[in-house]
Amino acid sequence: MNSRLKEKLIDIEPYVPGEQPKGEGIIKLNTNESPYPPSPRVSEALKNINYTELKLYPDFVCTELKEVLGENYGVRADEVFLGNGSDEVLALCFKAFFNSDMPVLFPDITYSFYKVWAGFFNIPYEEVPLRRDFTLDTEGFLRSSGGIVIPNPNAPTGICERLSDIEKIISGNRDSVVIIDEAYVDFSDNGSIARLVNKYDNLVVVQTYSKSRNLAGIRFGYAFANPGLIRILEGVRNSFNSYTVNTLTKILAYESGRDRGYFEMCVGKIRKTRAYLMEELSELGFDVCPSSSNFVFATRADTSCKALFEYLKGEGIYVRHFDSPRIDNYLRITVGTDREISALIDSIRHFLNK
Ligand code: PMP
Repeated sequence: MNSRLKEKLIDIEPYVPGEQPKGEGIIKLNTNESPYPPSPRVSEALKNINYTELKLYPDFVCTELKEVLGENYGVRADEVFLGNGSDEVLALCFKAFFNSDMPVLFPDITYSFYKVWAGFFNIPYEEVPLRRDFTLDTEGFLRSSGGIVIPNPNAPTGICERLSDIEKIISGNRDSVVIIDEAYVDFSDNGSIARLVNKYDNLVVVQTYSKSRNLAGIRFGYAFANPGLIRILEGVRNSFNSYTVNTLTKILAYESGRDRGYFEMCVGKIRKTRAYLMEELSELGFDVCPSSSNFVFATRADTSCKALFEYLKGEGIYVRHFDSPRIDNYLRITVGTDREISALIDSIRHFLNK
């Protein structure tokens, strides 16, 4: 490729998702998917889909789906925006709401996609260091900025902040948009801040069906915000790809959203296994962050967590390790089934000769 051709091409450093290994007996604890299948209502709906509908472009309003989401989180249908996974929703939010010369703020240890979108859209940013114990420095977000994005619970620490502290950040920044990324909120005791979207016109709450709804494969995410911000987001989406979500996703997300019982049962099982995983890791000498998510973040003094990561991979157990400052001796482990977590613990014990 000649250099004049090359200079016309984009030069980017993309986000690197966790591996998607396939194979008999692999234990996949590296991308925070659910170990459980989607609701049986999703299976029923798949069997009954009228495939001729697929010849048409999808419904771009999706009122019933918005109503179900709204009912589940105490917001109105006109306060809901739908997208293809929360990654897409977040990317559109960055484009729609972060248009200032002042830097956008997010924690230094957080979802690594934020930096990628900032680079992609040429948005200046500043990282606000988490405290030593990886909790959020609320005061660090009380200053003028180009906008704020915070996951609550945070990733990859799994730590959840009190809603009153998050509200302090929202109310202290009425001149900029504050995005609260609630990808893991259903696994926490604190609950969602979504109901505050009609109190604060600068609040955007983003959620996903990839984790607590066991539907990472349909790519479904959404945002809650006041109708003014929703209209701006729709404007951005319609300048890029005007169809909301595909027909299958719309149908399956709707069915899943209506099955509260199954959802609560899966979340309950994951929380129980999480407690078991945290306890076992602590007994093996790990420092474990208090997790409010479907994953656990842990380190162990005098042990190379990178070597442990490689060892586990050799055993067919995939977890996540990040080569990033402050956390390069940590592992992030998705909560799987009890059986998967027992196998993981056995392997760790073997690695430590215990
Ligand atoms: N936010 C956070 C904090 C995440 O960890 C993830 C999962 N990688 C996402 C958003 C995106 O999830 P999805 O695009 O599957 O909805």
